[in-house]
Amino acid sequence: MLSQALHEGWGLRMNKHILIVGGGYVGLYTALRLQRKLHRELRGGEVRITVIDPQSYMTYQPFLPEAAAGNLSPRHMVAPLRRILPKVHILNGTVTKVDHAERTVTFQPAEGEPRQVAYDVIVMAAGSISRTLPIPGLTDIGIGFKTVGEAIALRNRVLHLLDVAESTTDPEVRRRALTFVVVGAGFAGVEALAELEDMAKDSTRYYRNITPADIRWVLVEATDRVLPEVGPEMGKWTLEQLRERGIDVKLRTRLESCEGGRVVLSDGSEFEAETLVWTAGVKPSPVVNDSDLPLDERGRIKATAMLTVAGTPGAFTAGDAAGVPDVTNPGQYCAPNAQHAVRQAKVLADNVVRHLRGQELVEYRHKYVGSVAGLGLHQGVANVYGVKLRGFPAWFMHRTYHLSRVPTLNRKVRVVVDWTLALFFKRETISLGEMEHPREGFRAAVATTRR
Ligand SMILES: Cc1cc2nc3c(=O)[nH]c(=O)nc-3n(C[C@H](O)[C@H](O)[C@H](O)COP(=O)(O)OP(=O)(O)OC[C@H]3O[C@@H](n4cnc5c(N)ncnc54)[C@H](O)[C@@H]3O)c2cc1C
Repeated sequence: MLSQALHEGWGLRMNKHILIVGGGYVGLYTALRLQRKLHRELRGGEVRITVIDPQSYMTYQPFLPEAAAGNLSPRHMVAPLRRILPKVHILNGTVTKVDHAERTVTFQPAEGEPRQVAYDVIVMAAGSISRTLPIPGLTDIGIGFKTVGEAIALRNRVLHLLDVAESTTDPEVRRRALTFVVVGAGFAGVEALAELEDMAKDSTRYYRNITPADIRWVLVEATDRVLPEVGPEMGKWTLEQLRERGIDVKLRTRLESCEGGRVVLSDGSEFEAETLVWTAGVKPSPVVNDSDLPLDERGRIKATAMLTVAGTPGAFTAGDAAGVPDVTNPGQYCAPNAQHAVRQAKVLADNVVRHLRGQELVEYRHKYVGSVAGLGLHQGVANVYGVKLRGFPAWFMHRTYHLSRVPTLNRKVRVVVDWTLALFFKRETISLGEMEHPREGFRAAVATTRR
């Protein structure tokens, strides 16, 4: 099994196999750099690189809120792995187990039986998933905001519920349809809420009996602040902005239950809502638990400042799945964000090359420079290198920064085209929710025939 796995799909001159688990920020940027730095070895067959990911694309997550709001096509915020990494073998499926002692992973392909894939060097870049709590009803009505599927489903849902509210004569159904709850006021929660609220408000012009004031947005946050990523001063400003827009921001409040859409909060309030978005933090991808790699107290892979897995030769890690010591802030860890992930990938790839060449590894060192966040069309907040911006300048900075970061020229051009079109034409406000159930119409037709 092992030797079959080793040579699977490759020539016999094969020497070192670098396996990258996850094709997100860390996985894609690591593979890109390795593809460039090891081009001679790849051509000569001394090295081969494989990336395993359930998707055939990398998702540029900071653009999820803009895709949900309809300012960007979902196809333009993802980077196709096979096109960008022609020298790398892409396998679609999930790594379900890592046995580093045996240097193999168990790979579950999209279809068919699981199999073992052997490697010499592993890069664990499986990122994170939503961190949930055992709250009654959460699994029934909650939705996360980490994938293109979730962002587009939410967009369709918000627009569909405006249609529902316009068409019903039942005031309870209408109130429930027009109540949207977001739990968690970090990056993902605030940006998702702000963009969706902006889109919904914009869409009301096409409805006869819905005004922006009829739509209720509730942001629930357990701590006493929003958007900690931009610092206390800009977080306070963001809070004021959201409240001025009519968003009901509930600080020091927890979601207690949401069974059947009946939302109960720790401040004693209770109301009905059709939609609840859960963005209250992340935890490492479950595959880290199904590995023999050491974990830290927060369940992340224990990393060194060199982005190796602590005490584990031949294993590297970075990004949301890893607990990477922040050498600029002793005793602290690097926060799980793209700013670190992209920069870590560069150092990680270089260290993999150094490892293969028997050279000394270098430390990852980056001081967090602050953040930018979009709060809807022409609205934003930023705190970068101590420069604090709000409103349009921050929004412009948010867009230019992310445009500079989104991978490949091809994607950048497509994003600019989307934004330019949005300048001249009103945004699309139709729900294509039926795409989530493409066989329903056909099933109904079959049922009619039988009758
Ligand atoms: C809505 C939103 C907005 C954000 N905005 C910002 C921002 O403005 N600025 C910022 O700095 N950060 C932002 N972030 C955070 C940033 O996107 C993440 O920190 C970054 O994506 C982490 O990179 P990663 O490579 O560790 O994980 P990811 O990019 O999530 O990649 C992990 C990959 O691993 C794959 N994977 C998972 N499990 C397995 C498995 N078992 N087998 C194989 N593959 C697997 C996944 O499919 C995924 O492709 C945002 C995040 C979200 C959700």
